[in-house]
Amino acid sequence: MDTFDSTSLKKIGIFSSGGDAPGMNAAIRSAVRTGIFRGKEVYGFFQGYTGLLNNHYERLELRSVANILQRGGTILKSGRCPEFLKPEARKKAADNIRAAGIDALICIGGDGSFQAAHLLWTEHKIPVVGIPGTIDNDVNGTDVTVGFDTAVNTALDAIDRIRDTAASHDRLFIIEVMGRDSGFIAAHVGLAGGAEEVFIPETLTQLDQAIDHIRRGIQRGKTSSILIAAEGQKPGRAYDLAEAIRKKAGFEAKVCILGHVQRGGAPSANDRILASRMGAAAIDVLIQGQCDVMIGVQSNKYVAVDMKLCTQKKAFTDMDMLHLTKVLAQ
Ligand code: ADP
Repeated sequence: MDTFDSTSLKKIGIFSSGGDAPGMNAAIRSAVRTGIFRGKEVYGFFQGYTGLLNNHYERLELRSVANILQRGGTILKSGRCPEFLKPEARKKAADNIRAAGIDALICIGGDGSFQAAHLLWTEHKIPVVGIPGTIDNDVNGTDVTVGFDTAVNTALDAIDRIRDTAASHDRLFIIEVMGRDSGFIAAHVGLAGGAEEVFIPETLTQLDQAIDHIRRGIQRGKTSSILIAAEGQKPGRAYDLAEAIRKKAGFEAKVCILGHVQRGGAPSANDRILASRMGAAAIDVLIQGQCDVMIGVQSNKYVAVDMKLCTQKKAFTDMDMLHLTKVLAQ
């Protein structure tokens, strides 16, 4: 957390970075309209850090962000920019930002994007405020990230449909949801969707325990089961799990990989509200002269969180949820 002289703050740049998430547009709309309301000019950079390197930006007016509140994805495009790991690239971006007369930036992204934002401040004194936008919910310092609620609801909708088939055909299904390093989506849809078992990347896969659990369910008269697996480092891992369960226990499991459907779609009401409030808070924080912070929501309060806190560790899935899921799936 740091401060800068914001008395002459006039031009604010905004961009989205990393994986896209529903609600990023709502955050852009809010930042643009709040910024203009407060007498500032707002400029949108395209494709995350690539736009800062290529000088690809345009001024955003009130009407530039019309009719985007309900749209998934991001009108500013998003993406990864591996060059930014190099100090020379960050210097080039900082030079571009200064040459364009941009006084401060708002970065919508995950903890990776915030690492870069933190470096832009510490190395080049470009003031940046972050808005956590990722379906994974794995950003430390905020109870929830923009896009998570929508992704959970999208996955849950698919799981409810699969459950109809599982129940009608007495089947065991393994449903793979997104989450390379993070089990938030898996844990939440597991509890909300009444899964028997949830496999998350943060813990070792306890296959024997899971098989025991399924067996006990069958003995109690269960005819169908749903297991949720976060993709982990190897998308398609649900097929490996199905094979391992077949070999160990003789159960045939059907696999369904939800994949990118979880990333898109109209943002939920919660995500629109969260993103709108965070977009406005980001402008307010910059006007107050604070930077090197992320806007977080903690116990329903919108707060500025030290960027270092957000980048030094990941938020961790609540293990109590996994336990409760098992208890309720008896
Ligand atoms: P997310 O922001 O969703 O966590 P990534 O981890 O892919 O997504 O990061 C997005 C971009 O942020 C990267 O492509 C890169 O441009 C920049 N970035 C990530 N980590 C760093 C780092 N340690 N140093 C500099 N830039 C980084």
